[in-house]
Order: sequence, then structure tokens, then C-alpha cells
Amino acid sequence: MKILLVSSEVYPYAKVGGLADVVGSLPFALSKLGHDVRVVMPKYKEVEDKIVGLEKVDDLLKIYMGNSGIMEAKIYEGIMSQGVPIYFIENNQYFYRDQIYGTKEGDYPDNAHRFTFFPRAILMMLRKLEWFPNVIHCNDFHTALVPVLLKTEFKDNPLYNRIATIFTIHNLAYQGIFSRDLLDEVGLDKNLYSIDKMEYWGKLNFMKGGIIFSEKINTVSPTYSKEILTPEYGCGLDGVLRTREKDLFGIINGIDYTQWNPETDRSIKKRYSNKNLKGKIKCKKALLIEQGLKSSRLSMQAPLIGIISRLADQKGLDLVEKAMEKIINLGANLIILGTGNAYYHKVFEKMSYKFKENFKVNLKFDSKLARKIYAGCDMFLMPSRFEPCGLGQMISLKYGTIPIVRKTGGLADTVINCDKHIGRGTGFVFKEASSKDMLSATKRAIGVFKDKKRWDRIVRRAMEQDFSWDNSAKEYVKLYNEAISSK
Ligand code: ADP
Repeated sequence: MKILLVSSEVYPYAKVGGLADVVGSLPFALSKLGHDVRVVMPKYKEVEDKIVGLEKVDDLLKIYMGNSGIMEAKIYEGIMSQGVPIYFIENNQYFYRDQIYGTKEGDYPDNAHRFTFFPRAILMMLRKLEWFPNVIHCNDFHTALVPVLLKTEFKDNPLYNRIATIFTIHNLAYQGIFSRDLLDEVGLDKNLYSIDKMEYWGKLNFMKGGIIFSEKINTVSPTYSKEILTPEYGCGLDGVLRTREKDLFGIINGIDYTQWNPETDRSIKKRYSNKNLKGKIKCKKALLIEQGLKSSRLSMQAPLIGIISRLADQKGLDLVEKAMEKIINLGANLIILGTGNAYYHKVFEKMSYKFKENFKVNLKFDSKLARKIYAGCDMFLMPSRFEPCGLGQMISLKYGTIPIVRKTGGLADTVINCDKHIGRGTGFVFKEASSKDMLSATKRAIGVFKDKKRWDRIVRRAMEQDFSWDNSAKEYVKLYNEAISSK
């Protein structure tokens, strides 16, 4: 099967969140299954630092952009680490920027243009390559116009009208809602502005277009695929999603254990495995020292809790803010690595002065430090209000760092609660999005942590969990086949 994966982020070339990790690893699992899989993303400024020896496929593609005129695209081809071809679409006016989606002040004002240009350029690129996939796998609103364009501008073109699409919702909270004037500005079909297409409360909603126009839809965990059918989690699109319920699936993300493995991780102080955990103790000590926290015997015995997260409301950081003092009073130390919402930058910075003996915050994106935290902590806190899949808890399991999570979305699907499943548990789970419930789960975790033998068993069991891509890639292939046969 010929599969094209399209995404606005792909690890390691550009990453904001889990989307990049998914599109940076799923293609390898698909390729291993024998499929002709290729990837395409925009050529951002940072891409140049990450990949050398790009080959230009074509000088100039002319992309029609309505009243905004004709824009040019250049296509470059590279090879991903496991031999998968990747195309980069260049237009410096749109993509040669320091950030991917916007600055601290907010999203770039021309995101609608950027993410109309990108899908159009992708479809035009296929003709240049003379390579037409059986299925295009789109990811989040930045690529939602691919199915829309295929069923409008490209619908009578025999080269295109057999291509099936699947649309993966990684996060329903980011929908790409823009003014209706955009239709003319970027030259989209006027009929798209209607209630059964992309109209949404007087505006234009890209994600709604992706949901309505693609053959199959999926989210990145079974629980989240059910949650989003309810008003509580549906972000205003639950009604639209219910109309497509029979085409909506949940496929849990995998993680790439060649990238995430304490046995081979070169960024951590000492490598370790579930057969020999001595290295993990060295990692804890090194982390405490690097973070300027005490590394005495007493501090080594205290539970060390890590958080690695975008600092966004979704992630339940307000619960952490409320419970911080109490967590520290339970005798734990806490390290946060994250960037995002200015409010949390301020709050956690302030707290790091107040609790400087026990709490360290790192307000940045730092992949190396993330690995040291996954390895060096005892517990990993993820109190998300909603979580489509979540990678942090799966990575922390692999590093033997026991997750404390809220029972929602992918967190509910991947962490087995030690309180309820003695002999099977891999973490601690709480239900309500309240600091009280989170604190009580943390208390239970700390209680078990003191019982070294039991804790050790949980750690080893956590490290044995298998969330590799092999199973999920097979499920995607099944979904691609269903999408193709439903055309
Ligand atoms: P989301 O996609 O909502 O951001 P996920 O848990 O699915 O959340 O994926 C987050 C990914 O980004 C994980 O690989 C996590 O380790 C990484 N990450 C998040 N924040 C940072 C940061 N500040 N520095 C390094 N890595 C980070």
C-alpha cells in the first residue's frame, strides 16, 4: 500500500508536542510491515539545522491562494533515519520563522493561510512526484484541508479522486477556527460555508472540515474516542462527531523504544534495565545535583516527582499549583520541565523561590533534560483534565518512573491502578480533576514507595509494559484498508 503521512510537526525536525513523536515514529512501523510510506511537512527555519543533504525535487510549484495571489512552493526530499522518504515544503514567507505556530503573544495571524497553503502544496506535489498514494493520513487541523480539497477542488481529477483519507485527531482543543472572509482570501469553495460542512458559529472551522470530509477518523486512544462524543470533552464538535460515530475509531499511540529506552539512552548518567536498577539510583543522584536540590542520603530516600509538560490548562497544572505545598509536606521533592502559558511560568517561578530546597522549575523545552528527568525521578505526575493519548506516562513507564495520572483518555488506557489491581498495577490513578484527589493518589504512591520491595516490583512491571508501535501500526493498516474500500 502507498501511504502518505502529512503533519505540521515531525520529530526530530520540528516538535511542539506528542504529534511530532507520533509522525516521527509510526512511519517506521508501517514501513517494517512492507508498505511504501512517505512523510511530508513544512520546511521551517529549524529544519535546516536538523537535516543536511536535502535534495530539491522541484524549483517552483505555483500554488493558487485566492485573493492572496499565487504563492510559490519548493519541494525538498530527505531520508528519515530508518530509510523513509520525507518531503519538506518550502515557502519562506509562511514557514521560515522561529516558532511553528506562534509566539508567546499568541498564534500567528496568518495561520489560516499557512495551513491552507500546506495542504494545497502537498496535493500539487504528488503530481510532480508522479506518486499517488492509496491513502493520505492527515493529522490535526493543520492538514484537515487535504480531505476537503480532495472533495472540492480536486474532485473531478482522476489522478486524485481515488485517494482515501484518514484524519487523526491528536487534540480536539485546537481546531483552527478562522473568519469566514478566509474563503475568498485563500480561494476555498464558497459552498464550504454551510452548517453541514465547515461553518461553525459564523466562522470557518478547519477541524470540522477534516471530520466531515475524510473517509475515516480516529483519535489516539480508545477512551478519548468515546469521551469526545460527549459535550464535556467534545470541544463543541461532539455533535458533528456523533454524526460520524460509525467511522470514528481509537488507536493508542505507540512509542519508539529505539528512541526511548534506559538501556541505550546516551543522555542519562548511567544506563539501566529492569534486571539491574542500580543505574537508576545514579541517575537520581545526578539529577538532584544538576537541579541544585540536595543529594544527601536523606534526599535520595525522599520520593522525587517529575513533571514534563506543555504548560497548558489541559495538563491540570492548576491542581499542581494548589497542591504544591502539601506535596512537599508529604516529604517529596518536585521537578518541573515545561514551557507555555505565561501564567504558569510566573506561578512556578515564584514557587521555586519559596520552596527552593524541594522544588525546581525549568521553563524551557529541553529534550536532554527531559530524558534525565524520566530516568532520575521515582514518580511522574500527569494530572491532565483531558489527554487524547499522552506519551509522557508511557515513556516514564519504560524508565521505571511510576506514573500518577488522572483517569482520562489515553492515561486511563495505559496505566493500571496499583490500588485496585494488586499484582498487576503500574501506577496510581485518580478520578476527579481536583487537587484533593490528585494529592490523595500521590499520598498512596508515597505510602507504597516506602515499602521498597513492593515498589521495586511495580517499577520492574512498569518497565516491562509494551507500548511499541507494532500493534498500533497494524490497526492503522486495517483502518487504511477500510478507508480505501469505503471510497
Ligand atoms: P502533548 O502532545 O499534549 O504535548 P504528550 O504527552 O502526548 O503531550 O507528548 C509530550 C511530548 O513532549 C513528550 O515526548 C514529552 O517528553 C515532550 N515534552 C513536553 N514538554 C517538554 C519540554 N519542556 N522539554 C522537553 N520535552 C518536552
